[in-house]
Amino acid sequence: MNLSRVANKLGIPLERLEGLQETIIKGCSWPEPGLIRFEKTVSGVEAGTVVFESGEVVFGYPKIRRAMMLGPALKRHFSGRVAVEEKMNGYNLRVASVDGSVLALTRGGFICPYSTEVVREQIDPQVFEDHPELVLCGEMVGPENPYVSKSVYPTDSVEFYLFDVSTKNSRRLQGVFATHQLAEEYGIQAAPFFGEFRLDRAYEEIMQIVRQLGKRGREGVVLKDPDGQVSPLKYTSSESTCSDLELAFRYYNDYAADFLVSRVIREGFQSVEWNESPEALRARATRLGESILMPLTDTIKRKMDREQIVQKMQIRVKSIQTAREFEQHLRRMGMKAIFDVPEPMDGEYLVRITKLVMSTNDKTQALIEGKTW
Ligand code: ATP
Ligand code: MG
Repeated sequence: MNLSRVANKLGIPLERLEGLQETIIKGCSWPEPGLIRFEKTVSGVEAGTVVFESGEVVFGYPKIRRAMMLGPALKRHFSGRVAVEEKMNGYNLRVASVDGSVLALTRGGFICPYSTEVVREQIDPQVFEDHPELVLCGEMVGPENPYVSKSVYPTDSVEFYLFDVSTKNSRRLQGVFATHQLAEEYGIQAAPFFGEFRLDRAYEEIMQIVRQLGKRGREGVVLKDPDGQVSPLKYTSSESTCSDLELAFRYYNDYAADFLVSRVIREGFQSVEWNESPEALRARATRLGESILMPLTDTIKRKMDREQIVQKMQIRVKSIQTAREFEQHLRRMGMKAIFDVPEPMDGEYLVRITKLVMSTNDKTQALIEGKTW
């Protein structure tokens, strides 16, 4: 790999890049092709940025800031108009063609063997034949994955939804209209687009959209500048916040505690901004409290009944090799998971996975036995 060319593309001095080796950037030789991966954001290079052996760079997907008080945030951040897209609740992928093969990169910059198999099936390969430089940014949603499993989408497995387009060796995102145009042209499924609103009416419209999405268990919206001049913002529903909490408290010691604070604070701002009646506020408080205490008490009771607390999931793969590679991939990411023997099903294989949540198990057992916090 020609490091000075790479440094140039990344926009950092060569010495800086060399100095980052071992600490911030990590080499990966598996699965093919080999790459280096930025583990953290450094010198303006986003975490998850990947440099392939060919010297091609796929930049990390930028963070999206959250609006807490929607109305004022809209006015402060955007000017003129704002485009509203659904925020899909799954895991982020960047899909690119490298040396002629299509690969799916996770947010952190790993090639995910399972996601790669799925996108090769779901995205018309013609798009990369016509435009080999493209990077398709999208969300993989649905129940069959061990990252973010949600059953609120019209799929029993997983599906890719495009939400942005970029090119290799460039940080520039092409924006809402180019994205939906490409999706249309190649029949790629895209994140639903709710329209473009004038700033003076946007708050009302978005609030209604988010309420409706919430009722369907959907996450919320990403608000984008139609001209791509300012970065997007995200805003989400109370139902989605509560469903995150439900998972976090079922496995309370394995999912970080700071998960809680930011989510409870969101609920406070939304309730005040939505001018809720005392009844509506009480309903919100009940929903919030239940999403914490119901799964938590369930976990404690199960442990008292000597049950092992585990997280069950499943995936479907076309080839057994993909299942094996995925197992290796999860292990490399530090996830402790047990894979059952793949079961043949309708020309595919169903693989049941048991994710171990050791920390929650050990902590709960200790507390039941009278250990102190
Ligand atoms: P951050 O973006 O701040 O790192 P995060 O990784 O915790 O946050 P989220 O809170 O889920 O992620 O919000 C950002 C993510 O939302 C994006 O990285 C992307 O994967 C996902 N997303 C879903 N739908 C869209 C959409 N329509 N436009 C942009 N991003 C979307
Ligand atoms: Mg997300």
